[in-house]
Amino acid sequence: MRIFDPHIHMTSRTTDDYRAMYDAGVRALVEPAFWLGQPRTSPGSFTDYFDALLGWEPYRASQFGIRHHCTIGLNPKEANDPRCTPVLDLLPRYLAKDGVVAVGEIGYDTMTDAEEHAFATQLALAVEFGLPALVHTPHRDKAGGTARSLAVVAESGIDPGFVVLDHLNEVTVAEVADSGCWMGFSIYPDTKMTPERMVAILRRYGTERVLVNSAADWGHSDPLLTRTTADAMLAAGFDHEDVDRVMWRNPVIFYGQSGRLDLDGYNDVQAAGLYAGNSIARGGS
Ligand SMILES: [Zn+2]
Repeated sequence: MRIFDPHIHMTSRTTDDYRAMYDAGVRALVEPAFWLGQPRTSPGSFTDYFDALLGWEPYRASQFGIRHHCTIGLNPKEANDPRCTPVLDLLPRYLAKDGVVAVGEIGYDTMTDAEEHAFATQLALAVEFGLPALVHTPHRDKAGGTARSLAVVAESGIDPGFVVLDHLNEVTVAEVADSGCWMGFSIYPDTKMTPERMVAILRRYGTERVLVNSAADWGHSDPLLTRTTADAMLAAGFDHEDVDRVMWRNPVIFYGQSGRLDLDGYNDVQAAGLYAGNSIARGGS
């Protein structure tokens, strides 16, 4: 089984996590730019972080056989801090870099005017740079926040096929499915979404335009929940083809739209070998 985690904050994880992820089948991931827990106080701490997402963290991942790409953006929470917003002017030079496969995470946190300004500005940058956009939906008033996010996306003129709305649940999935945007789901140990609930959503909405991630950050989270969800899909009667579509080909299609996804050495031929050799894969022992 090959897994591409389309949203995971590896900066917060240990080398043991990288090793366990490799053993579980993870061969590629995307790390979105986000907040760091402790609030930033200047654009300089963003650029140091962006440089780490483009330099240090891909190197760390490569030590464990995992390909690392990132997304770059001003996150919604810090879009409210005037000490941070000047980073918007620095984004173009990062969005031009090879390892950046989307703009993100952008969107709403508490749905302020400042968040909306940063969100719309960065969707315009996504259009300008021909990049997909990763949209974080707020955890409070998720239904209202998702509807408003879809309105901002529609107004921006970006192709809905270039946008994923993430952290969806049973309440918000239908509206996003109808919009033509991609549906992102973060599987967490005790918040957001469980593997079992995810399987039920896949049964109802199918496996197209769906991204499943573990998001794993500084809070209680588990970087192996992509694999747990894949196993839950198989146990529920989905076949290996379905699992491969959700856990590998969908992220490749979505981020591949950037023209920058580089999976050399982690590509289909090699992964197909890993896939066949994996004990729980089709025909395995
Ligand atoms: Zn995130």
